[in-house]
Amino acid sequence: MSSELQGKEVVIDCCGSLFYAERDARGFYICPVCREAVLFSEEDLIRHLAAHARRTLKRRHRVPKR
Ligand SMILES: [Zn+2]
Repeated sequence: MSSELQGKEVVIDCCGSLFYAERDARGFYICPVCREAVLFSEEDLIRHLAAHARRTLKRRHRVPKR
């Protein structure tokens, strides 16, 4: 793994939109939208951003309706 990437911004192309995500000291991606989620791979981040785009992450711990 290249340590040069750590702490730098990476550009993620998601659904035709560009997102600038930071990487933490471990090389994980920090979600630029909510800044809470830590994604372990670029693929995970893209999936997470796509979910933001569909606004499905407003409540991540939803209580199931009965
Ligand atoms: Zn997020």
